[in-house]
Amino acid sequence: MSARPDLFDHLEEGPMPGGCNFCDAYLTAEVPFRGVYLVHVHHDDRCPVLRSRAAGSN
Ligand SMILES: [Zn+2]
Repeated sequence: MSARPDLFDHLEEGPMPGGCNFCDAYLTAEVPFRGVYLVHVHHDDRCPVLRSRAAGSN
């Protein structure tokens, strides 16, 4: 049907667990433009990765 990776087919149906090895993160997809897919990783509030990012840049 399409050349998109399977990942995006799943994400379009809703949040999908994964994206981080350190917390119960989940993934969501956004399609701002046709053919452009943005994947967001939503980290748990206690995620060490998220904390380190919040403390520094980004
Ligand atoms: Zn995380």
